[in-house]
Amino acid sequence: MRILLILLLAAPLHAAADALSLEQDAHALFFRGHLTKSVQVYKKALEADPQSLSARLNLACAYRALSNDEAALGELEKAIGLAPADPDVMAESGWSLYRLGRFEESASRFEQALKLSPKHFNALLGLGAARMGSGQSRDAVGTLKRLCELRPNFGGSAYFLSKAYEKNSQMKEAREQYAVALRRDWTLKEQEAVIQEAPAAPAKLPELAFTAVQALALPSSEPALRVGLWAGLEGRSAALGRLEFESSGPFQVVGERTKKIFAEGNAGERWTVLSGKKGVSLRSAGGAEITGIAAGLVFKPASSSSTFLVQDIRLPDGTVKPVSSREFRGTLTIYPQRRGARFTAVNELLLDEYLLGVLPSEMPASWPTEGLKAQAVIARNYALAKKGSLRAHLRNHYQLCDSQHCQVYQGARAEKERTTLAVRETAGRLLYHGDRLVQSYYYSTCGGRVQSADDVKGWGGAPYLHGKEDLEGSSSLPKDSPWELFLWLKSVPASNCNDPALIPNSEFRWLRVVTPRAMEKKLRKFRLGRIKEVIPLSRSASGRVNEVLVRGTKRETVLKKEHQIRFGLGEESLRSTLFWVETVRGADGFPKEFWIYGGGWGHGIGLCQAGAAGLAKNSKKTFEEILQFYYEGSRITGQP
Ligand SMILES: [Zn+2]
Ligand SMILES: [Zn+2]
Repeated sequence: MRILLILLLAAPLHAAADALSLEQDAHALFFRGHLTKSVQVYKKALEADPQSLSARLNLACAYRALSNDEAALGELEKAIGLAPADPDVMAESGWSLYRLGRFEESASRFEQALKLSPKHFNALLGLGAARMGSGQSRDAVGTLKRLCELRPNFGGSAYFLSKAYEKNSQMKEAREQYAVALRRDWTLKEQEAVIQEAPAAPAKLPELAFTAVQALALPSSEPALRVGLWAGLEGRSAALGRLEFESSGPFQVVGERTKKIFAEGNAGERWTVLSGKKGVSLRSAGGAEITGIAAGLVFKPASSSSTFLVQDIRLPDGTVKPVSSREFRGTLTIYPQRRGARFTAVNELLLDEYLLGVLPSEMPASWPTEGLKAQAVIARNYALAKKGSLRAHLRNHYQLCDSQHCQVYQGARAEKERTTLAVRETAGRLLYHGDRLVQSYYYSTCGGRVQSADDVKGWGGAPYLHGKEDLEGSSSLPKDSPWELFLWLKSVPASNCNDPALIPNSEFRWLRVVTPRAMEKKLRKFRLGRIKEVIPLSRSASGRVNEVLVRGTKRETVLKKEHQIRFGLGEESLRSTLFWVETVRGADGFPKEFWIYGGGWGHGIGLCQAGAAGLAKNSKKTFEEILQFYYEGSRITGQP
């Protein structure tokens, strides 16, 4: 009798344990990208324990990831039976209904979710979308206004409000909201041509004067850096046709190799560098002329406190290069290319002079001082760690380029008092791990989770570049189920980098609505035909997508590299690979829109800039503590 009792008690326990272990297996399959297999194993878990809410929700989630809303809805309905007071479950059943075109029913689910949780962001967004879908655009306007109040730094709010106004024929309001949306997130611009006003005519170049440059007192041991100018995203310095410059002090024109002095320049004198059929030539307003320049020519100032002001920069075909004028400390060198048909320009200056022009471009000068100091140290580190290793740059006469390929550098005109102070106050400070310089990777916003360098191919794992939550005191990543990850991505969790006062724009969380046409255009080299499905497969421990399956009517392909994924899924690139894709299908069964819910901006490895600022502002951390948080086990050298 006693034995039987134990057996009776043990049976359901045993089943629950079985279900749990099956569920864990299914999670693992999901994150490795085996979505269909994960569905099978979640089903087995539910056979073992039909009351498991978590298995039910994760099964729904796996169906959603496979863009099967019909099946997901079935599971979510059952989940509502198990957890009728859970607003997330209610709202997500609404979203499945929405995507199946059942707008009225979805609206009522969102209303129920809002009863359970009145500020539920996704329910509010859903209610606005569902009302637009069912033609109640006036109600949609009211709902979406509430959404904008709730989360003003989310670009999607203003974007949907502008759509609702447009549907309601309130074009003036639509344009206003659209402008707000674009301010919050420029990537929304590909999505709406109708309400976009004609772009303003480009402004005439302003007349510029020299900024007063403070000569930095730098130690003589300070290394010099050579920076390739006007580089593109891939790091190649621009081929130019012409530029004009003047110096705030006297300078010499010297042959780089021969050291021969060709001319002397005076303060305020206008000089022109010109390429053409006869090669590269140099002319001054004072009448000096050098023609047939065949090798590097250096403009070398007499004093370290003078600068070169460069204006009217043109491409070889004569068009004006759409960059503002620049001012540079140090020397400028021009290098003729293609027998003088064009030339490139390189700026050589001391490391910390370079940092003065980097910092304001890489971090807002208004951010907390300790955050700026952390940025100064890692920008210095990055420059020193990279400067000898980029072969494509070295071949073209420079060590680093001025674009985000290396670090954005905009010269002396960009310098700001607060960033200059941060560079001075951290002079000589460097970050080491053991006896090696730290590879001080950084990016704008992690979206709440820093990712490990080991998780991404080509980043050369380092012990100090490991994954963690961007939360004070955290040293690891949570082990989320797919459903938890999904809700986390759609919510606004606490994080060092989630501070709307620091980031007024849609960077921590963002939403893109991308048409299949935009993707087809971007992925045309794969000859996929009409796109049928876009399915993220494997994910790293931080939740970032490592592979995306894109299936077309003719072929399918799997995007595997970070840049391929970010640049391929829309005309404008995605801010990060930390995202979730949902598919809205048209009556013909083909996708009409892909909604991409994302978090963060950048690769997520190393220091999160917004998080560094948040740690300084909200947790009162010093720059040393900030650096030790993002590069664990590193040490800072140099005198404080
Ligand atoms: Zn570069
Ligand atoms: Zn962060």
